[in-house]
Amino acid sequence: PEDADVEALQHADVADLLPRPVAESDKYRRGVVGVVAGSARYPGAAVLAVAGALRGGAGAVRYVGPAADAVLTRFPETLVHAGPPDKAGRVQAWVIGPGLGDDEDALKGLLDDVLAAEVPVLVDADGLRFLTPRQVRARAAATVLTPHAGEAAALLGHARAEIEAARLRSVRELAARYGATVLLKGSTTLVADAAGPVRVNPTGTGWLATAGSGDVLSGLTGSLLAAGLVARDAASVGAYLHGLAARRAAGRPGAPVLASEVAEHMGAAWRDVR
Ligand code: AMP
Ligand code: MG
Repeated sequence: PEDADVEALQHADVADLLPRPVAESDKYRRGVVGVVAGSARYPGAAVLAVAGALRGGAGAVRYVGPAADAVLTRFPETLVHAGPPDKAGRVQAWVIGPGLGDDEDALKGLLDDVLAAEVPVLVDADGLRFLTPRQVRARAAATVLTPHAGEAAALLGHARAEIEAARLRSVRELAARYGATVLLKGSTTLVADAAGPVRVNPTGTGWLATAGSGDVLSGLTGSLLAAGLVARDAASVGAYLHGLAARRAAGRPGAPVLASEVAEHMGAAWRDVR
C-alpha cells in the first residue's frame, strides 16, 4: 500500500540532525547561506527570508538583491551584496525566490546564475516560475523546491485541485520529474526525494497560514543546507522547526502569529527539540 512509503519525522531524529557548533567552529565552517529575494515591490519577503536564514544555524547570511536597506535595518548581522549572485563571495547554499516579482528576464538571469553554483540551492516562490526540469536535472549539487499547492500545480502543469486531491502522488511526481528534493507545503507538509519514503511533518499548525511564513521557511531550510545537512534532512528539519516555532509563537491558548514572530521563536523551537 502507498502508506508503506511514508514516514513521520521523529523528534529524536531532528535532535540528532540539528547542527551544533564545535570547538573548532568558525562562521565559514558553520556555513554561509546566500539569499536572493525581494524586490522594490516586495522588500518584506527579503527581510523574512533573511530572518529565517539567520535563525537556521548557519554562520553568516549574505543577501543579494534590491532590498538591502530594509534587510539591514532589521538585521545588521547580514552581509549584503549589490551585484550578481556569482560575485557575492563564499556561499555554501543558496536560497532564491521569495518576493522576486515576475520579470521573466530578470528571474531567468538570477536563476541561471544561482543554479550554476556547485552548492545546494533551494528554489521557492517566484524562483519557481520559470524553472525547468532540465536545468535542475543538470545540476550536480542538490536542489530543493518548496512549492505550495498552487506553485506545485504550475510546475506540473496540473490544476491546483488535482494537487490537493493527490498530495502524496504529486510530491513524488515533482521529485521524480525535477530530480530534486521537494517540500510540498500545506496543512501537512510532505518532503520527497526521487527515491525513498515521503516524510510527513507532524508539527504544522494552521497559524502558519499567514503572509510571509513560507519566506521564513525557505531561509531557514537554506541555512540548514549551508550548515551541511543533506537536502532531505534540511527540508524535513526545516519544516519541523518552522511548525514548532509557530506553535511557540501562537502560545496556549493559541493566538494569531506574524511570520516575523515565527522567526523570532526559532530559538524556542530549537530548545524544545534538544
Ligand atoms: P506560503 O504558502 O509560501 O506562504 O507558505 C505558507 C506556510 O504555511 C507553509 O510552511 C505551509 O506549510 C504553512 N501552512 C499553510 N497553511 C497551513 C495549514 N492549514 N496548516 C499548517 N500549515 C500551513
Ligand atoms: Mg510562498
